Amino acid sequence: MPTVLITGASRGLGLEFARQYRADGWEVIATCRNPSTAPALAATGAEVHALDVTDDAALKALGRTLSGRALDVLINNAGVYPLKSPQGSFGDVPVDAWMEALRTNVVAPWKVAETFIDNLTKAERPVLATISSKMGSIADAAAPGSVVYRSSKTAVNMVVKALALDLGPRGVICLSFHPGWVLTDMGGPNALITPEQSITGLRRLIARATPADNGRFLAYDGQEVPW
Ligand code: NDP
Repeated sequence: MPTVLITGASRGLGLEFARQYRADGWEVIATCRNPSTAPALAATGAEVHALDVTDDAALKALGRTLSGRALDVLINNAGVYPLKSPQGSFGDVPVDAWMEALRTNVVAPWKVAETFIDNLTKAERPVLATISSKMGSIADAAAPGSVVYRSSKTAVNMVVKALALDLGPRGVICLSFHPGWVLTDMGGPNALITPEQSITGLRRLIARATPADNGRFLAYDGQEVPW
């Protein structure tokens, strides 16, 4: 049975990843900050572990707990959008919120990869998927605002590219994904697609990924996203 590890699986896209992989019979290792407040995750039947991805000691401890287990897929999903407009606009950008975004959205995916690299290389065709966003696309940026979130997703795209260069030669396929604008707490009520649609698309891309895809930035529908 293939195994997937998902970060930030308490709700939203992470929870939907857990649901769909479980429904498909996968072994799901789901992590979230506070399992006691994530009953929907427990209901999926996933193996749940507490993990704040910004807590290096907790990450190392989970690495030891899961040592020796092969991971076919690792999903860097946990993310934050700390500021809503008009906060985060020019003249009103708090440094602490920016640092939180960088720590969670940029540094953590790299540290998660470092922690579980030996688990990934035990699998036959391992995929390391990082949930980025089209909002991190420099080519796509046309209107002002949201610099905190945007810059964090631009930076994580470089993290994925750097991981692809480091880990591609070790057989790990590293991908950066735009999940679409999705109806979650983060996406809000005006979003365009459901978590089910987004994750169905992302799972299809993960299932079809080959070493030739290493380092690509793709939307949930398979379209290439410009950097
Ligand atoms: P939600 O806000 O609905 O969920 C975010 C998840 O991340 C929660 O499970 C939250 O846990 C978890 N999380 C946040 N910080 C940490 C942390 N330090 N350690 C562990 N878990 C953490 O967002 P979505 O599900 O919509 O987003 C998932 C990913 O998709 C994110 O990376 C986001 O940037 C990206 N994305 C989403 C889009 C959308 O339209 N929804 C569009 C583009 C990208 P907790 O419950 O503990 O807060």
